[in-house]
Amino acid sequence: MPLINCPDCNREVSDQAANCPQCARPLGGPASGTPRAPVQTVEQTGKKWKAVMLVAFVVAMLGVAIFFSSIRNRPLGEAVAIPGFVGFLVARIGAWWQHG
Ligand SMILES: [Zn+2]
Repeated sequence: MPLINCPDCNREVSDQAANCPQCARPLGGPASGTPRAPVQTVEQTGKKWKAVMLVAFVVAMLGVAIFFSSIRNRPLGEAVAIPGFVGFLVARIGAWWQHG
């Protein structure tokens, strides 16, 4: 088992050690190899859901505006607003689901 010198305290340490036993400096031994994968996919999917949410919100507001513009327009307003609200909720749940 070869020995290396700790870069901080210069003590002789096994090259299999994860940390120096004297000063606890991490030495890059086999136990210290913790891989860190970049987390970028969550950001991308989050933006997609936000875009869906925005579009659905605009559709829902448009439907509400049509609904209140005239009594005759109420069926049309409902037909636009309800899918808009449903889409908005689905996008919210989707964004929440992506973030865990
Ligand atoms: Zn040391």
